[in-house]
Amino acid sequence: MPPHTFDESRDEEFLRAAFAVAAKARDGGDHPFGSVLIGPEGELLMEQGNAYTSEGCDMTAHAERVLCSRASKTYAIDFLNKCTLYTSAEPCAMCAGAMYWAGIGRVVFGQTEADLKARTGDHPENPTLDLPCHIVFAAGQRQVVIKGPLLEEEAAKLQDGFWQA
Ligand SMILES: [Zn+2]
Repeated sequence: MPPHTFDESRDEEFLRAAFAVAAKARDGGDHPFGSVLIGPEGELLMEQGNAYTSEGCDMTAHAERVLCSRASKTYAIDFLNKCTLYTSAEPCAMCAGAMYWAGIGRVVFGQTEADLKARTGDHPENPTLDLPCHIVFAAGQRQVVIKGPLLEEEAAKLQDGFWQA
């Protein structure tokens, strides 16, 4: 399947929208991660913050995973192929898998998993799974376009002071 052409001109704007969702999640008592789903015409389709606390301590309630489940129930796969998921930190293996299965065409992320791990350590609520998403996507049968890290320092600031005791 040929990849679609994606407009990159608003990537920083949309990534910062994901950062704002992450900040809102943190303010609401969830972990400081956020994602937005942007359609082929630059339309904001969905936003989703981490939902660990609000979903009853669900360790799988990462922003991207929850967003992908919602998106898959809402939109056809052909449409999602043309959409971009912007997310504050690189999708973990679970979330990259969810993106793959939902059919989302492209991901733009802020902070890498490796940098996240360096800053959050082995916190019991966030034992970062440091597997670059390109390795997960490379094992798939359709292409997922990846861009990142982007605005990595801004993304990393979302974690400041959160995981330390
Ligand atoms: Zn994840």
